[in-house]
Amino acid sequence: MHTPLCRHATGEPWEYAAQARQLGLPEIGFADHGPMPRDDFDDWRMKAGELGEYVARVERARRDHPQLVIKLGLEVDYLPGCEDWIRELAGRHPWDYFIGSVHYLSESWAIDNPAQLARWKERAPLEVWTAYFERLTQAAESGLFDILGHVDLCKKFAIYPPEDCTPLYHRFLQAARRHGVAIEINTAGLRKDCRELYPGFHLLQLAAQAGVPLTFGSDAHAPNEVGLNFAEAVAQARRAGYTQCCRFTRRQRQVAPLPLS
Ligand code: ZN
Ligand code: FE
Repeated sequence: MHTPLCRHATGEPWEYAAQARQLGLPEIGFADHGPMPRDDFDDWRMKAGELGEYVARVERARRDHPQLVIKLGLEVDYLPGCEDWIRELAGRHPWDYFIGSVHYLSESWAIDNPAQLARWKERAPLEVWTAYFERLTQAAESGLFDILGHVDLCKKFAIYPPEDCTPLYHRFLQAARRHGVAIEINTAGLRKDCRELYPGFHLLQLAAQAGVPLTFGSDAHAPNEVGLNFAEAVAQARRAGYTQCCRFTRRQRQVAPLPLS
C-alpha cells in the first residue's frame, strides 16, 4: 500500500490502518514507491530525502494501531544498473520486505503510464511483453527482492499479443522458484482496463505448479482500497492450486495458511 509521499495516493498510513481494523484484517503492509538515485527520474515516487519521513509515518500508524501488525516495505523499481542503489536502500531501514516492480522498459518508458500509452503503438504487443518478462526475470535473478509486484502489469491497458505467452511465463517462474522470490496477487488489476487480478489465472496456475510463494496485495492508493477484492483474490489462489501463502518479517519469509475470507 502507498502513502501521499508518492504524489499519486491519498490518505495517511494511520488512516489505512484504521480501515484495515474496520475490515478485521490481522496484518497490513506498506510498500510505497521508493526513490530513484536521481530525484528528477519521474514524478510519481518519494524523493530520496523523504525516505525517513515515509518510515516515520508508517511507525506512527504502528503507534496509533498497536492491535494491528503493520509491515514496513518498499516498492522498488527494477532497472538494470540500479542494483547498487537498491542494496543501499536495503541497508537504510529495518524493512520487512522489498517488492520489486518492473514499470520501466527503458529509462524513459513506464509501460503502465497512461500518459505514454502511444508508445505501445510503436511496436507489436509481443515485443513489449517479451521485453517486460525478460526484465522481470532479471529482477527475480537479482536476489534484491522478496516479492515481485503485479507480475503481468503489461496487460494493464488490455493490449494482448495474439501469440501464446506461456514460454515467457515459464522462464520467469523458473527464475522466481530458483531464487526463492514470491509473487503477489494484486487486486489493482481489477480496477484497470484489463479488469482482472494481477496475475491472470493461467499465469497464477503455472506459478502454483512451479512452487512460487504467494502474497496478497490491494496496492491501495487510498484508504477505501485497503483489502479491496481480497475474498476474490483468495478464492482465485485456491482455484489455481495454492494451499498456502507467505508473509515477511525483516525480510525473512514465513509460510502462512491462506486467509479464510
Ligand atoms: Zn502507485
Ligand atoms: Fe507498481
